[in-house]
Amino acid sequence: MRVLVVEDEPDLARQLTTALGDAGYVVDLATDGEEGHFLGDTESYDAAVLDLGLPNVDGITILERWRRDGRTLPVLILTARDRWSEKVAGFDAGADDYLAKPFYMEELLARLRALVRRAAGHANDELECGPLRIDTRGARVTVDGNPIKLTAQEYRLLAYLTNHQGKVVSRTELTEHLYDQDFDLDSNTIEVFVGRLRRKLGVNLIRTVRGLGYCLTQADDDA
Ligand code: CA
Repeated sequence: MRVLVVEDEPDLARQLTTALGDAGYVVDLATDGEEGHFLGDTESYDAAVLDLGLPNVDGITILERWRRDGRTLPVLILTARDRWSEKVAGFDAGADDYLAKPFYMEELLARLRALVRRAAGHANDELECGPLRIDTRGARVTVDGNPIKLTAQEYRLLAYLTNHQGKVVSRTELTEHLYDQDFDLDSNTIEVFVGRLRRKLGVNLIRTVRGLGYCLTQADDDA
């Protein structure tokens, strides 16, 4: 999952990028409004954490522009405490959730998980497909109840495919949502990860759709 953080306070920006990175997200940070708007407008994100008080362009304006231009990504705004009018303006501009500063990082992570989950149409923290179960809170994966040990990269890939199960996901989409720009990716990397995942899962859930990408679905020919 790729998350955009738009926050100009250096300490908070650092805490956010660290906590989100530790939680398995790929994080892009913008420290002013102009850059934040540009990234959200041109890159593909699974969610954004948007501060309202920003240099150059304020958060409400950014959000209004994104929504006007059809950007539907879930957005969690960061507001100043006791400024109820900011929350109202934020929701009116198209925010999906808010947190008042200061906040506990755990709460931010929980709210973000909920936003990403709802955007994908899921009601709780468990993803499942046939014998596969993923607990997204603890990043735990089981097949038929047996725990499967995955690397962080493999987990991200599997969670993304499971979040979008039944849909064909292209290699480009996977690359954009799962890896940092500086991650060394050649055209075979995704294929290698998929191959390893298939072996570790031991069940036929990830299908290759020739020329298009991958699709995670429940096997209908369980021999
Ligand atoms: Ca600020």
